[in-house]
Amino acid sequence: MDIPILLGHNDVLLRLEREGDHLPFLLGDPEAQVDLPLARRGGLGGGFFAAWVPDLDPDETYYDDSGGYAIALPDPLDPEYAFEVALSMSDKLLQLESDSLGSVCVVRSWSDLVSCLEEDVFAAILHFEGAEPIDSGLRNLEELYALGLRSLGLVWSRPNLFGHGVQLRFPSSPDTGPGLTRRGRELVRACNELGIMLDVSHLTEEGFWDVAYLSRYPLVATHSNAHALCPSSRNLTDEQLRALADSGGLVGISFSVADLRPDGEDDPDTPLELVLDHLEYVAELAGIDHVALGSDYEGATMPEELWDTSELGQVLWGLADRGFSHEEIEKVAHGNWLRVLGETWEP
Ligand SMILES: [Zn+2]
Repeated sequence: MDIPILLGHNDVLLRLEREGDHLPFLLGDPEAQVDLPLARRGGLGGGFFAAWVPDLDPDETYYDDSGGYAIALPDPLDPEYAFEVALSMSDKLLQLESDSLGSVCVVRSWSDLVSCLEEDVFAAILHFEGAEPIDSGLRNLEELYALGLRSLGLVWSRPNLFGHGVQLRFPSSPDTGPGLTRRGRELVRACNELGIMLDVSHLTEEGFWDVAYLSRYPLVATHSNAHALCPSSRNLTDEQLRALADSGGLVGISFSVADLRPDGEDDPDTPLELVLDHLEYVAELAGIDHVALGSDYEGATMPEELWDTSELGQVLWGLADRGFSHEEIEKVAHGNWLRVLGETWEP
């Protein structure tokens, strides 16, 4: 199917940071789930590249007899360390762009994104997953915008100066703690002023409602699923999904198996059909204009059938098999992302 796909979330920058070399992304990397040759094969036109700063101490996971789990909330990151790592990751993306000789573009505007899709240039959107690199006075936000930052998740699943991340827990409601702090509310307003998209994936439910109340722009969850089908704390309740739709926003369906499966298990032997189930559920509840693809490649366990991005075309064929029209499939593949980013970046 010749329809370019945009994905709401990948952790390629984490791999590039660890490997210290970005050229395999362009030439092909046997370890990768996302690289340029795989993207070409799977019809991937681009998406959000997350700068996620790892914790210095690994998290502890607790399992219980019923198959449930809870990951201890990590301590806040040191802001200077976070800034350094996020800047280094952002730099990797910019080097990727300059070494790609025109085949990758770090998009800074809606028209950049549209021309990428038209001209078959891979479109990368710089996203921070957690606002730790931003200083408490928001003084470096404009600098980061100038660098290319166009999307921000206020928190990852840990606390920071701006708010509280949802604890990774199953089964659990997303209501696991407090919402935004005063500085977090200021950051929402500042991002609205600059035209930086805000991502509510990884926020607590309270934080979600804070952003819904404060932000002028469509609400976006870049990589989350329907809580009704998989009761993980990372997924959105029906009420949250309706609020996304009411704001004109969208949810990018996550392929993370633990957030797809009704039993919450981290098992790659998970059918692709579950991705379609979540997609169809959101389309029926919230409307076809409010669902897109998120994925979480390189950041979570993917279903075997969708192991890397060369397999992405199967999602579109699966939608066609379930009776979605060509126009509806286009919306899910990239049309809804284009609409939301147009309204946010160039209101
Ligand atoms: Zn994530």
